[in-house]
Amino acid sequence: MKITQHIEHAKGKTLFSFELLPPVKGQGITHIYNAIDPLMEFNPPFIDVTSHREEFIYKRLENGLLEQVAYSKRPGTIALCAAISHRYKVDTVPHLICGGATRQEIENMLIDLQFLGIDNVLVLRGDAAKADSSFIPAEGGHAYASELLQQVINLNKGRYLHEAHMPSKTDFCVGVAAYPEKHFESPNLKTDLSYLKMKVDMGAEFIVTQMFFDNQRFFNFVRLCRESGIHVPIIPGLKPITSSRQLTSIPKTFHIDLPEDLCDAVKACSNEKDVKEAGIEWMIHQCRELLAFGVPVLHFYTMGNPEPTRRIASAIF
Ligand code: FAD
Repeated sequence: MKITQHIEHAKGKTLFSFELLPPVKGQGITHIYNAIDPLMEFNPPFIDVTSHREEFIYKRLENGLLEQVAYSKRPGTIALCAAISHRYKVDTVPHLICGGATRQEIENMLIDLQFLGIDNVLVLRGDAAKADSSFIPAEGGHAYASELLQQVINLNKGRYLHEAHMPSKTDFCVGVAAYPEKHFESPNLKTDLSYLKMKVDMGAEFIVTQMFFDNQRFFNFVRLCRESGIHVPIIPGLKPITSSRQLTSIPKTFHIDLPEDLCDAVKACSNEKDVKEAGIEWMIHQCRELLAFGVPVLHFYTMGNPEPTRRIASAIF
């Protein structure tokens, strides 16, 4: 079922969902099932699985020279989605990224998804490769999420890359990412919103946000979206603080601010166990406000660690 249908059927009741990363190559799928099992009691109608581009690593050869090798640390997004859907009878939302992929490879992935009966995708540009200072599209690939979105919309109309009117049309419900505190490359929120509006006008049917710790930023963002004519569901992405190290790593990685009160609460803790408790408490408070605001879904970035999310969901649902 499509994400938009899940939201419609919920008739205003807030749903619970979460995101997982594919396991690091070699870890196996049991690791993932162990991360899902504790969260199934909250009846997620869908689970997201992230996508990770190939990176380049350097291997030293016997002659001392370095050889550049393509390396996928977390492959398997599509297969993992299929395995999760099959095992838990839930919908899955694979993330599809432009980074490192040609249009042809993306078309093949979309055909795989269609054959597997997976009819939701979250389309994203992806970040720059670790070796690059800014995003460089693959040769024959897309530069922006909107271009990838257009490819999916075309396929929904039976327009394949090299065949214009094919009888087998896909029927993907497509989501896109958004940033309540703006995307870090964007000169300002207004410009960023104009590209978001473009994606929605092109056919994106739902939005999932970057994590945030200050609900006022999210409320303001939703207001600006509505004022600019973006009326699709906006799903807040959430992640509790679980370690004091995250006071610096989260702003650096995700380009977001952490509220002073949250930082003070973390700094007042004498050990990491208390930090986790403070982070969970903050998130429970955030979720209660978001529920009162009427968000369609509370969507958690679990990063493979279900316990904090389980604690929060127990307090909320
Ligand atoms: P875009 O929409 O392409 O925007 C990128 C930047 O370009 C923005 O600054 C935007 O304002 C600007 N822009 C957009 N269109 C145009 C245009 N036509 N002309 C000029 N400027 C334009 N990354 C992964 O690698 N894998 C994942 O699984 C993943 N999942 C994510 C899930 C969520 C919910 C979120 C919020 C992010 C996720 N990311 C993931 C990170 C994401 O790929 C990065 O934030 C990336 O830098 C931007 O992706 P985007 O889809 O928002 O890009």
